[in-house]
Amino acid sequence: MPTEPDTGYDPSLGRKFIFVTGGVMSGLGKGITAASTGRLLANAGFDVTAVKIDPYLNVDAGTMNPFEHGEVYVLKDGGEVDLDLGNYERFLDIDMTSDHNVTTGKVYQHVIENERAGKYLGKTVQIIPHITDEIKRRVRAAAAGSDICIVEVGGTVGDIEGMPYLEALRQFAHEQDTDDILFAHVTLIPYSKNGEQKTKPTQHSVKELRSIGLQPNVVVGRCGDPLESETREKIALFCDVPREAVFSNPDVEDIYHVPLMIEEEGLDEYVMDHLGLTAEALPRDERDTEWRDRVTRETTGEVTIALVGKYGLEDAYISVHEALKHAGLETNVDVHRKWIHAEQLIEGHDGQLAGVDGIVVPGGFGSRGTDGKVEAIRYAREEGVPFLGLCLGFQMAVVEFARNVLGFGDAHSAELDEGTPHPVIDLLPEQEQLDDMGGTMRLGTHVTEIESGTLAHALYDRTSCEERHRHRYEVNPAYIDDLETAGLVFSGTSGRRMEILELPDHPYFVGTQFHPEFRSRPTRASPPFVGLLDAVLATGGGAH
Ligand code: GLN
Repeated sequence: MPTEPDTGYDPSLGRKFIFVTGGVMSGLGKGITAASTGRLLANAGFDVTAVKIDPYLNVDAGTMNPFEHGEVYVLKDGGEVDLDLGNYERFLDIDMTSDHNVTTGKVYQHVIENERAGKYLGKTVQIIPHITDEIKRRVRAAAAGSDICIVEVGGTVGDIEGMPYLEALRQFAHEQDTDDILFAHVTLIPYSKNGEQKTKPTQHSVKELRSIGLQPNVVVGRCGDPLESETREKIALFCDVPREAVFSNPDVEDIYHVPLMIEEEGLDEYVMDHLGLTAEALPRDERDTEWRDRVTRETTGEVTIALVGKYGLEDAYISVHEALKHAGLETNVDVHRKWIHAEQLIEGHDGQLAGVDGIVVPGGFGSRGTDGKVEAIRYAREEGVPFLGLCLGFQMAVVEFARNVLGFGDAHSAELDEGTPHPVIDLLPEQEQLDDMGGTMRLGTHVTEIESGTLAHALYDRTSCEERHRHRYEVNPAYIDDLETAGLVFSGTSGRRMEILELPDHPYFVGTQFHPEFRSRPTRASPPFVGLLDAVLATGGGAH
């Protein structure tokens, strides 16, 4: 079989595409811009999905260090992907799969496997057409069934790694009707020393795009402020786009307000018009306003939640931050997150935690900072401070309980102290024979059975939940009886695996082996996070 045939236009493989490229520098928030535009199109009644292209050679983000790349986001099918997919899921309120994250590693792996299997019939295998065909095939497959697919190319135009993708998109556009595709270029508009908005870097990056045969239909200028009229005119003139196709996307304090701003700018209308969708769109006054209503709610108080982790980078815990924010939207409070470096939290030095309304210990790997996490958990347990432990945080809650309540002073997780005489957290049996690190954890959605009458039951209001996982270790079954006899309740289980823990005589002490933060959405906050804030408010925490 030759390379999968490129069938050209096939409406069942997605109808309309928005290709998003970035200019001048990365980290401009082009994902948020794209996701916000998608939110507005979804509000107008369209089925919107997204594809994130990451031009790195890693097959997926699973082996990447959160210090450098931020959080590894986990999808329902267990895909370990770039955190941008989390933004798409939160903004579009959809569940994506690994197929929605195209990486150079995946593309080349597939093409090379085909070559080894003799599928190219003796042909020389090349970037064009074999790699570019494979890119197009993946984009079309991920778009299947949707009205609009937003395809974001990671990195910046001009990066060597991005070239095959831009070439693939050029071919793609060629194969479809012109009103099926919109190219949006998101770029930086810096200020000069004398306070002038400068368009030269944008001109250069658009020139670069055009030199490879791509002409943006829309230019979105990221700037501290709205673009001035002359700035828009200059961009239009030099980049060869209509004046009405230049949009502002100034900094805002809350990323959830970006869709509101983009709507004000009229970007959504312009996009629908270009794609020939205006007639199908819901009239303005019939569009979904749930997002707007939710993110513009008046808050009635504020709470401070300590996040005790090891990665100092804000992006490393982005889904936890967002889940706290969603729970705040649900309970009408502003959530201030106080970052606490676990390594600096040693016994007797819990002053940093004094006055916080709640404590979250998030997931993680490796031993650095674990004693500080255990210390934070002890403080929460003994002082009655509402606590939520996520994955490693759940495991450390078991370690803390074994050490300080059961009296096994040297209890630990076998991941962090191989020689511990009390490995209360131990390797999952199915992990024992594995050598590869990539994609081999217990990943993705698994069902947890919830015990009736427990706090977990009250939180989820159901006797089961489906949450996403990413771990290699579990509560050691040999210690469950001891832990339960001493008062720890495992209120959620999945076969032999303990999934949720709680302490009955505490305002809120909950741990989850899974990561509820990955399913939290602005309009559908995650139950364990809402429970945390409810407990803070019920115990009189938070300033009102
Ligand atoms: N390191 C722990 C494990 O592998 C926890 C993982 C996590 O927090 N995601 O089980």
